[in-house]
Amino acid sequence: MIQEEYSIDKRHNKQIQIQADFVVIGGGLSGVCAAITAARKGTKTVLVQDRPVLGGNASSEVRLWALGATSHMGNNNRWSREGGVIDEIMVENLYRNKEGNPVIFDTVLLEKVVNEENITLLLNTSVSSVEKSDDRNIKSVFAFNSQNSIEYTINAPLFCDASGDGIVAFQAGASFRIGAESKEEFGELFAPDKSYGQLLGHSMFFYTKEVDHPVKYVAPSYALKDITQIPRHKIIRKDMTGCNFWWFEYGGRLDTIHETEEIKWELSKVIFGVWDYIKNSGEFKGVENLTLEWVGNVPGKRESRRFEGLYMMKQQDVLGQQSFDDAIAYGGWALDLHPADGVYSELSGCTQWHSKGVYDIPYRSFVSKDIDNLFLAGRIISSSHVAFGSTRVMVTCGFGAQAVGMAAAVCKEDNLLPAQILEKGNIKKLQNELNLTGQSILNVPIDSASNLVNVGQLSASSSLKLSQIPADGDWLKLNVSAAQLLPVKAGQRYSFKVTVKAEETTELDVQLRRSEMATNYTPEIILESKTIGLKQGEQVIEFSFDATVEEDLYAFVTFMQNNKISIRESKELITGVMTAFNGVNEKVSNDGSQRPPKGIGVDEFEFWIPNRRPEGKNMAMEITPAIEAFNVQNLGNGFVRPWLTANAWVADLNDEKPALKIEWQEEKEISEITLFFDTDFDHAMETVQYGHPEDVIPFCVQNYVIKTLDGELVREVTGNYQTINKISLDTALKTKGLVIEVEHPSAHVPASVFEVVCR
Ligand SMILES: Cc1cc2nc3c(=O)[nH]c(=O)nc-3n(C[C@H](O)[C@H](O)[C@H](O)COP(=O)(O)OP(=O)(O)OC[C@H]3O[C@@H](n4cnc5c(N)ncnc54)[C@H](O)[C@@H]3O)c2cc1C
Repeated sequence: MIQEEYSIDKRHNKQIQIQADFVVIGGGLSGVCAAITAARKGTKTVLVQDRPVLGGNASSEVRLWALGATSHMGNNNRWSREGGVIDEIMVENLYRNKEGNPVIFDTVLLEKVVNEENITLLLNTSVSSVEKSDDRNIKSVFAFNSQNSIEYTINAPLFCDASGDGIVAFQAGASFRIGAESKEEFGELFAPDKSYGQLLGHSMFFYTKEVDHPVKYVAPSYALKDITQIPRHKIIRKDMTGCNFWWFEYGGRLDTIHETEEIKWELSKVIFGVWDYIKNSGEFKGVENLTLEWVGNVPGKRESRRFEGLYMMKQQDVLGQQSFDDAIAYGGWALDLHPADGVYSELSGCTQWHSKGVYDIPYRSFVSKDIDNLFLAGRIISSSHVAFGSTRVMVTCGFGAQAVGMAAAVCKEDNLLPAQILEKGNIKKLQNELNLTGQSILNVPIDSASNLVNVGQLSASSSLKLSQIPADGDWLKLNVSAAQLLPVKAGQRYSFKVTVKAEETTELDVQLRRSEMATNYTPEIILESKTIGLKQGEQVIEFSFDATVEEDLYAFVTFMQNNKISIRESKELITGVMTAFNGVNEKVSNDGSQRPPKGIGVDEFEFWIPNRRPEGKNMAMEITPAIEAFNVQNLGNGFVRPWLTANAWVADLNDEKPALKIEWQEEKEISEITLFFDTDFDHAMETVQYGHPEDVIPFCVQNYVIKTLDGELVREVTGNYQTINKISLDTALKTKGLVIEVEHPSAHVPASVFEVVCR
């Protein structure tokens, strides 16, 4: 028994001091990715999260689907899903939770973090104040956990504020902004005026379920009574749930930090009022057995403070795809701004303008310009309000934050402050460390000097020569124009044979297209067009193009819309080869093309988007000469995803024992072998609600064996589903060569590997 006598002195909570290398405040996807990345490089990291679960807006407390450059697969950013830790998380979630249960996503995040021995995770612990060691440095943060009544003082040389509202950066005195810049300040022609609104509001959602008996609903007295106060109420459907209600937004004209409780009450009023409308207005049929299953109580916050870093991103950087020497991540979501009146606005819930392709995000935007030992991550990074409209999505936030985690590790190792990474070539080291973990910084390959494969001889049992995509699939009706993306060779003329079916005599227009910027997938340039007469019925058409391209790149062999025509598809899926359609995706404001009003600095272009599997097949065709873009030399080229070309070694599907060989003239000492597999960087892996057709991406090699040249087993792996397999050897292996035997993932998918890194 514990018994304490009355004390006239004030009592104190239990106090704990923690010393770390790096403290991350906020356990959203940004904080999680920063902490894991730093910890894996040996940095003692404390992750402080004020909620019982991780994930922030992606957690089961808020339930937003995490997205990034793939943008619901609704824009032109091909193969753009973010790599590294955020990819590992998304792929793990797909494997365990393809149905998109938010509670399971919580467990994926928690497990990833608690598995890191260098992370001290403090859940339910809220950072409330900061102590500085001098004008420009933070000494410690103070945090309190109301569940265990412990007060923590956490000291470290480096801090990362990933808290969303920027509690640490704010208290440390860093300069910040709330609201939108004027058009004049940075020449941002899309900058909104006050009447549209200059700050995004919060949102909360609800889930419902159908039971086997009628359920009555009595709304609380604070529920919204008059549904017509929501001008867009006509679009509400009884089966809408969760983040389909992203437009239940409020607070864009309030103080989104200090008035959050008031905003939350208004959102509760909307939720219960809308549910009352669905259940009791008589406007909806078949709602008797529906009941509320879950209602958000933690508002999802979109925007508050943005802190000033060494560089502030702006509209032109996003839409102009500005490249930066200090790029450490990329973005690809649209500039996505919302009317400040949110759910009560007559305007569309959002205005989205896409760039033609992905764009660089510079390291400087993550480094506070005022506080020397402070990194910024997540939605508070140094972006203008307009650029933030794109950088704010969670996978982009996590992707940038893992660069912060790696930067913290580099700072620790080399005794640097964050800004010193910009000096003496340190940024190259940071970029390379990131690329070795899958970051795929645009146009920056893994440094060839960091891979022993590059001083060896590579060979393979076979390499795909793409002369035929077999005609063994269904028929694809040309309701919209469709294109086969092929990694063609510079200066080469190609001819094609394609099986088509016409309902009546008609004409098919075929075009060879390419993108103005070779690394984009906006095929604005029509290199050549042909019109082919078709008779009724099934037939094989033959056509060739005289036009060629000047550099190796993805060409679009395009079949223009004609709904009397169908094209034969193939069951075969091949790494680095895909189809795209001039299709519509309303979720990201894509109605087939982007047609902006004049004077807002936005490009006009067509959207060419993929179909999600199980659709999303290749078009069957014979190609002459065969495309030889899949050979083994791709393995050391430093790129771990398609970019200008396939960048993968792909085996021939007829090769029964596909294998790679790396031979060195002299014995090498190898302590780490990293294989980069294809988990379809084009597939947006929305974390909730969406549901995905498969738990293992069909392109991914699942079974493989690594041996020495003498046949000594180094590692056998079965059931792989992850993109990156890093094999760390306890004792360095001394060998003159390695053989990697890979199994084809299935009868319709040849084995492929993007990169093998030996160190
Ligand atoms: C309704 C809505 C729709 C959106 N749509 C999408 C979408 O479709 N896809 C997408 O990817 N993004 C979307 N976004 C944007 C995205 O959710 C945010 O921009 C993103 O969550 C920002 O990431 P973050 O890590 O900075 O912040 P958060 O996800 O908010 O994470 C910050 C974490 O820090 C914690 N924290 C805060 N203060 C403290 C403290 N003092 N001490 C300790 N911990 C603290 C918070 O609890 C939180 O868990 C949307 C946002 C909203 C609100």
